[in-house]
Amino acid sequence: MASLTRPMTASAGKRTARVVLLLIGPPGCGKGTQAERLKEALRLPSISTGEMIRAEIAAGTPLGKLAQGVTITGGLLGDDIINEMVSARVAKPDCANGFLLDGYPRSLPQGRYLSTVLERLGFPQPTVVHLDVPFELLIERTCCRRYCPQCGHNYNLKSDPTKREGLCDHCDTKLLQRADDCEATVRNRLAAYSRTTSPLIEYYASQDYHRVEASGTADDVYQQVFQRISTARQTWRGD
Ligand code: ZN
Repeated sequence: MASLTRPMTASAGKRTARVVLLLIGPPGCGKGTQAERLKEALRLPSISTGEMIRAEIAAGTPLGKLAQGVTITGGLLGDDIINEMVSARVAKPDCANGFLLDGYPRSLPQGRYLSTVLERLGFPQPTVVHLDVPFELLIERTCCRRYCPQCGHNYNLKSDPTKREGLCDHCDTKLLQRADDCEATVRNRLAAYSRTTSPLIEYYASQDYHRVEASGTADDVYQQVFQRISTARQTWRGD
């Protein structure tokens, strides 16, 4: 059994496996947190389409303006735009040994597109980790999210509250709720997720697919995810 802390490194004399790891799960399931930890453990870049889109919005690019209108109503950006963004990103040199995708693909057409991109770039097909959480729990969690507009720190009124109500622990700034974290928007987003992701999960079910029950704490979920990945890693390395 592989140690939880031992990273997969390009150890001398041993060929490094190229790995593509996908984290799939409904919005609010904790993909981002898991991606952060896995990125360090596996020493692979973590690519979040959500972050890429937020960066476009913040920079006020034409793509950002388009994305802003769509995310506020709880909709999802079109496949063409996202596909193009991801395809350009994973061709960059830091992805040469593999990468982790958080929040992409989320539809069957995106999944098929990704398969062709991986094939073209000489990557193996992905190891898929599906973080599954009941929707009602997600609605409760997401509506409790707050963030600091000054330093960007994230909080949750229930699971990760601040020391002083409503104020950032790091910089005393008044916390805000993202416009797309209100209940109606979250419900729309989950319905859209369900419609588009179910066929994708069926598509991956016969491949290197691992479903993880992800209602527990971030630590519990990480342990489960890492255990599944440790098994998959033996295949990556050809052990
Ligand atoms: Zn702050």
